[in-house]
Amino acid sequence: MPFPGAHVFVVDADSYPVHRDRLFCGIKNPNKISVMKKTGTKRPNTSYYGLIADLVTLRIGDYIIFYQMRKEESKFDRGFRGIFKVVSQPFFDDSDIDGLSSSVGPLGSNGKKVLGKCPFCGTNLSEKADANTGEKVCRDCKKQLDYHILPNRVLIEPVKVFDDPIDDNTAYIDRNFIKADLPVLWTMLFRKTSGEGRARSITHILPEEFRKLQVIFETNCRASTNNRFQAYKPSKSQQIVIPLDTDSSGELKVEAFLEAWMMENIDKSKPIIKDIIGNPDELEYFGNNVLYGIGGEKVDVLCIHKTDKVRHRATVIELKKGTLTEASVRQIEDYTKWMAQLVFGDDSQTSKNKIQPVLVGFNAPTKVINLAKKNVAGTKPPMILEYSVGGGTINFKRVL
Ligand SMILES: [Zn+2]
Repeated sequence: MPFPGAHVFVVDADSYPVHRDRLFCGIKNPNKISVMKKTGTKRPNTSYYGLIADLVTLRIGDYIIFYQMRKEESKFDRGFRGIFKVVSQPFFDDSDIDGLSSSVGPLGSNGKKVLGKCPFCGTNLSEKADANTGEKVCRDCKKQLDYHILPNRVLIEPVKVFDDPIDDNTAYIDRNFIKADLPVLWTMLFRKTSGEGRARSITHILPEEFRKLQVIFETNCRASTNNRFQAYKPSKSQQIVIPLDTDSSGELKVEAFLEAWMMENIDKSKPIIKDIIGNPDELEYFGNNVLYGIGGEKVDVLCIHKTDKVRHRATVIELKKGTLTEASVRQIEDYTKWMAQLVFGDDSQTSKNKIQPVLVGFNAPTKVINLAKKNVAGTKPPMILEYSVGGGTINFKRVL
């Protein structure tokens, strides 16, 4: 049995009641294509494929917690809400989902909706926030919208749902809930510290972070007694496809393709990758875009491995769609220290030696391989893979 992952979805007071009562999560749908302002050149939109990479990291059986964002909401309403679990593959469906007329009260779903498309022009692109008013506005017809457009979805079922949220102070700084087995919620905290683009609609939290939220729910929050779940049934769901378009040299057009492919396939025993990951049933955690610093420093992919109840190693994978550089090798020293702290709780040499760095790129010049061989940082010697696209998949060759 694989370990269940745990993920936090950002929602607000308009969407949370609908997600809870109709049992699904949704993420935004930016345009798949972006157009360069100066040249008019079209290319795949990294924002779209980055979100898709986040979504395809989910597996059936994973836990879901919602984080209800502060907007104009009172501080007592915002916070973590849960607990649910994933029961479907991710999919696209642009049907609108209504709340339930029987779900009333301040956080009832009656009269609320999550849209799959604009009710005026029919676009399934997610709304944007008006620069002045912050109101939701359709990207295409510019009309004001009352609800979010979230057509990329996954179905969930309740595990145990609580009426009260876990507020931020209890989640992050309450000393009653900071212990050896209840760590600070680092991966969430780094997203909250200010910085452009830091917020993501899905954060893959560590197993101990999930356990901590679970303990706080059980200690502080009232379990809901009057839920009226009515699972939404997708009417015309489409599979989410990650295209692997390359330029004429064979290099992927955007790095997010590589990231999304990796998250979809990391536990599926693909050639070469399976040698690095090992037994997928021992994969305690995997996530993309994992923040480890106040400055927004991140690693592309983190995997944590556990055997016989012991967390014994971690793999950090850095992805480059193009040529690997010496800078990618030098970066290893920095993240090894912080990843050791995040995963093993300290940065002793023993902990640092449990971190396996892996660099993946389109090609690895000899000077990069030689620098990695020297291993000046004294970390675990890095592995280097070159990728190529063929037969509708990504293939790897280990060069170090
Ligand atoms: Zn519209």
